[in-house]
Amino acid sequence: MTIWLCRLLLALLPGPLGDSKANTFINNSDFSFRPIDFMRLKMLNEQLEKLFLKDKSPFIDILGQEEAKQGIKSALMQNRHIIIVGAPGIGKTTMAKNIARLLPDLEAIEGCSYNCAKKNPVCPSCRQAKSHKPVRISGSKRFVRIQGSPDLTVEDLLGDIDPIKALKFGPLSLEAFTPGKIFKANNGILFFDELNRCPEKLQNSLLQVLEERKATIGSYDVDFDVDFICICTMNPEDTSTEKLSDVLLDRFDVIYMTYPETMDIEKKIVLMKGRKLADVSEDMLALMTYFVRLLRQDEKLEKKPSVRASIGLYERAQSNALLEGRKSVEFNDIKKVLVSVLSHRIRLKPSVRYLESVENYIQEQFRKNVENAKWQSHLEEQESSDYR
Ligand SMILES: [Zn+2]
Repeated sequence: MTIWLCRLLLALLPGPLGDSKANTFINNSDFSFRPIDFMRLKMLNEQLEKLFLKDKSPFIDILGQEEAKQGIKSALMQNRHIIIVGAPGIGKTTMAKNIARLLPDLEAIEGCSYNCAKKNPVCPSCRQAKSHKPVRISGSKRFVRIQGSPDLTVEDLLGDIDPIKALKFGPLSLEAFTPGKIFKANNGILFFDELNRCPEKLQNSLLQVLEERKATIGSYDVDFDVDFICICTMNPEDTSTEKLSDVLLDRFDVIYMTYPETMDIEKKIVLMKGRKLADVSEDMLALMTYFVRLLRQDEKLEKKPSVRASIGLYERAQSNALLEGRKSVEFNDIKKVLVSVLSHRIRLKPSVRYLESVENYIQEQFRKNVENAKWQSHLEEQESSDYR
């Protein structure tokens, strides 16, 4: 409240004496940003289009998920913003980072907070400067992440006026404005994780930016011209969230990501992402992923274990083997870490939860489906029945 009052007073004050260029940023038609250059706006998606047509499998960090990959390629080629929907630990962030890495290097202007391209500077400071020092910025450096949460403010997204700088440079000066994440994502990827966890007010600001490329901060209108691809994520199992408005959803195409389609893919992901300290035989690896996939199919669970659970079993079983003075993982190494790795990654449905603890449930399922059963024969069955 005090900050807003301070801003209001600052806004009413004239800029510092002799600083005729103080009001260079906001609500000043002389220095407002250029109108949107549609030729330039095409560039991000054009760059990707060229790449997708040349390279059929550009998303090398994600195994499987062919349908999602196809959907993402087709949406991005048409300059669409996307929402990736899927449970936690499914690879949504990895996918978005992979897209950013595909973007070619940008010849930007050194020191600019808006990632101005040298060929087409958009911020007033770069546009007024007589000469620019170029700097190359890779695609992965133009990946800006926002974590959706109820505490996230519009200022985090759009930017804010710094009261101390405002006193020095003038309340409406560019120097007094600290750009938010949206500006930093210019010419890159704005990755909005768990969009549906942020407050409605913030969703409205995002909508305005996507719709009009015009943002409002407090009582100011800030016109800006940014080009970014917005990739959001949503977890369909998260019930403690805000409902996304239909108008906001209308700005996006939705891509669904699933758990690894086959056990073979899941094993490959575990080997790719997991840390290797000891030997893990093919059988032991199969056992771990088999049990996690079995829990994922379990109708008594309302929260399912992700690939992180398989990776967790893989890594922790190796630690146990080493601590026992062995170089390779044995059955008991896995058994001992089950509860520690899995109990918080799954949740029983209320009807089951009241009768049994999650710890007991895991141990019982393991005993029944793995220990007492000949789990090798389960594996063979799965392979022949295209287990999903
Ligand atoms: Zn700039």
